[in-house]
Amino acid sequence: MRITRVEPFVLHVPPARKIADSVNSVEAWGVTGVRLFTDEGLVGTGYTGTCGKGDELIATTIGTYYAPALVGKDPFMVRQIWDELRWGPMHWVGRAGVVHMALAAVDIALWDLMAKSANRPLWQYLGGHKSKPIQAYDTDGGWLNLTQDQLIANCTRAVESGFTGVKLKLGKANPREDYARVKAVRQAIGPNVNLMTDVNQMWGFNTAQTWGRRLEEFDIFWLEEPLNPDDISGHARLARELAVPIALGEHVYTKYAFRDYIQAGAVEYVQIDVTRVAGITEWLQVAALAGCYDLPVMPHVGDMGQVHLHLVAATQNAPMLEYIPWIRHIFVEPITVKNGFYQLPELPGASTEILPDAFSKYRRL
Ligand code: MG
Repeated sequence: MRITRVEPFVLHVPPARKIADSVNSVEAWGVTGVRLFTDEGLVGTGYTGTCGKGDELIATTIGTYYAPALVGKDPFMVRQIWDELRWGPMHWVGRAGVVHMALAAVDIALWDLMAKSANRPLWQYLGGHKSKPIQAYDTDGGWLNLTQDQLIANCTRAVESGFTGVKLKLGKANPREDYARVKAVRQAIGPNVNLMTDVNQMWGFNTAQTWGRRLEEFDIFWLEEPLNPDDISGHARLARELAVPIALGEHVYTKYAFRDYIQAGAVEYVQIDVTRVAGITEWLQVAALAGCYDLPVMPHVGDMGQVHLHLVAATQNAPMLEYIPWIRHIFVEPITVKNGFYQLPELPGASTEILPDAFSKYRRL
């Protein structure tokens, strides 16, 4: 099989309502990636996720700098191709961010092609089994721009529909407000539901130490991204001082950075995102490394779960996956949760194929 054509794309898909955390607000989710056409008629699709900004930089990286190295290649050379792109002309200007997100999209498209060629869903191609239960936790009810009443209504609804975990965004200007919101939601959902919290990097060390400790009375499942993601020693100190486990990874872009976090004891739930590290090839390496330390992998879903569901199904130390349903309607085989557990995809590939109507409706580039 040979790649004959490389087609970058940018889609902007609006969520049902405007949402915000302590850093970003989203009016359109960027589904930015590539379709790889082959001489066997198979088409591989891979994409990364943005908050609707910077997509054209990612598309240009793929179309201008990666495409010439891809045409004529066999997708089964994925690891060689990965090295070639990683050490290609873009290495000078970026080893994370835009460049890694572009490489992630290409790498996912290559794995999609390999699984399609084997006529198997990716989770099965990677050695997963359908008997593995994959718990879902709901992030979509806990945004920072929602009122306390809305949080309670959303989280209660999620629990009633079978979710055994919900996540709340923190990072209000006054942490006392965060405290009150966590308290109210814990009271509403009762003691038997996992309650995750996510600061999106907005706290300094002192705030994180003080308020992380106060929140422990509400039996918090994890405290996510409390500090700047470059501050490994700060997270290590926090992990030692707080009883609540530290979760992070959505802004950690390489296996080397994950290695340093893990070796420092600075992360306790490893949230590798396949759209931020450079694709499935690097994700698998980090997940295996976490496994060596008995650390659970709980991915952040920059892909909104379509690809991660396959990866989690095929990873022994990955018991649970975030759920955000914003873009599921654009896919041929969308992620589906029943009674709090994910259903495994059945079609060949990585569940990245986009419906033709959605592709034209949301296409920006
Ligand atoms: Mg997060």
